[in-house]
Amino acid sequence: AQHVKSDIEIAQAATMIPIKEIVNDLQIMEAEWEPYGHYKAKLSLSIFDRLQQKRDGKIILVTAINPTPAGEGKSTVTVGLGQALNIIGKKAVIAIREPSLGPTMGMKGGAAGGGYSQVVPMEDINLHFTGDIHAITTAHNALAALLDNHIHRGNKLNIDVRRIVWKRVLDMNDRALRNVVVGLGGRYQGVPREDGFDITVASEIMAILCLADSLADLKKRLSKIVVGYTNSDEPVTVKNLQADGALTLLLKDALKPNLVQTIENTPALIHGGPFANIAHGCNSVIATKLAAKLGDYVVTEAGFGADLGAEKFLNIKTRAGNLEPDLVVIVATIRALKMHGGVPKDQLAGENIAALQAGLANLAKHIDTIRHFGLPHVVAINRFIHDTEKEIEVLKAWCQKQGINVELADVWANGGAGGKQLAERVVREIEISSKHFRTIYEWNASIKDKIHAVATKVYGAKAVEYSTQAEKQIAEYEARGWGNLPVCMAKTQYSLSDDPAKLGRPKDFTITIRELKAAIGAGFIVALTGNIMTMPGLPKEPAALKMDVDEQGRATGLF
Ligand code: ADP
Repeated sequence: AQHVKSDIEIAQAATMIPIKEIVNDLQIMEAEWEPYGHYKAKLSLSIFDRLQQKRDGKIILVTAINPTPAGEGKSTVTVGLGQALNIIGKKAVIAIREPSLGPTMGMKGGAAGGGYSQVVPMEDINLHFTGDIHAITTAHNALAALLDNHIHRGNKLNIDVRRIVWKRVLDMNDRALRNVVVGLGGRYQGVPREDGFDITVASEIMAILCLADSLADLKKRLSKIVVGYTNSDEPVTVKNLQADGALTLLLKDALKPNLVQTIENTPALIHGGPFANIAHGCNSVIATKLAAKLGDYVVTEAGFGADLGAEKFLNIKTRAGNLEPDLVVIVATIRALKMHGGVPKDQLAGENIAALQAGLANLAKHIDTIRHFGLPHVVAINRFIHDTEKEIEVLKAWCQKQGINVELADVWANGGAGGKQLAERVVREIEISSKHFRTIYEWNASIKDKIHAVATKVYGAKAVEYSTQAEKQIAEYEARGWGNLPVCMAKTQYSLSDDPAKLGRPKDFTITIRELKAAIGAGFIVALTGNIMTMPGLPKEPAALKMDVDEQGRATGLF
């Protein structure tokens, strides 16, 4: 059998060009960038000032149907489409998230695209990269330390230690840290209280970094974080603790987007990586906007399916960043469609037209969602080796019959060359389509109206139910004046509903809101359906067990 090269083998065989050349191609000035080694750079936000008058490039948002646990290749198609646009002579810049070390060591292995559509240096990107995630961890934990110190030193703010909502973070999957007790050991060791750890990418600071549009905005958002409540029920903020200056200082370099390249030397900005369940799941506003200043086309991605990442991109990120996509690419795979049509995960390899046809209902709902937002769209079929010609034909014919734009994306196997038709189609649709972008709720609607709009228009739910706790929290938040923030829905990525087992296009279901969380610094109210993990655990066979490094320092086993 032919050896199929692993992602890391392909990445290591790629010929990278020095990052300075990529910088020069983008006409970035000497004072506007800093090298981080030979193949990574940080870009200065002063580029925005210089290019203020320049017209922004077109923004292409890549989303997907509800994924299988393996992911449907959004990053791969995002990178492949960026490469393909360059092949057809367009100046494209990619903007994507930085992977978290937790999932890398656990389930996923690398997360920097796949096959011949990857960003490089993939080892760096998947490991410590330029240290942004570590800076966020440090800023988050500095706040926790300042908070506990405040209480230890007399608690002038009268903070109720039973109502502290600021945990600690670590960028690792470590279930043993979900619930801990801190401050044990007597009067010199702090005040004992229950605490816990989240994964860094679930930190509100990660969401803040990704929604801020300047250093000043970063500071303003950080200062508004609510860490707990006083004994008289007033929120305690970062501002109250006088920590906003230090936190901003710790993050000043992390706020600068990172420039790398794909294996075909297309420029890519990798910046920020908030979870798509508890947070909004998109790379930073700054990276997307900077990519639009530097290129004529930006290809960017939002996490999980269109019901999660894209919904939040379109309802939250667009307004936080004052930006708008020009077109949405909806990634579909034959294997995921068959899964939605009822085929078990381990039997997806064989041809199964009936299951494929049954699964199309899932794709149909996501197309419908993008129509609600008034945006032009193209379905991209991310081709896998096991897909049969007949299956691809059925999917294409289904789209064409309804006038839905569809193209095959063969970018995993062939890089940009496998995405030329998709790129041409995307460019043409942007030129000929009229877009009428609208969000699906107003930010100043009531919290319940906003949740209802997402549940019915995006998920296709019949109704929304609230736990007693959620009812109380909604009343409390609205009384505190937080009702005009957008809602950030926390839901399983596997189903349109809040039950991961309901595949395809579930009908007549109810969404249950269990609990809410106020992320006032990020500027949204998280609405949790079901149990959402903010500190994942490692699986039985962690991906880490296959990783190694040889005597020359070359990584192996990062997929
Ligand atoms: P997502 O962004 O949707 O999570 P990724 O692009 O990260 O998905 O892809 C998930 C995994 O699937 C990666 O390991 C990638 O190499 C692999 N993959 C993606 N597309 C293909 C394909 N067409 N054929 C084979 N493997 C693929």
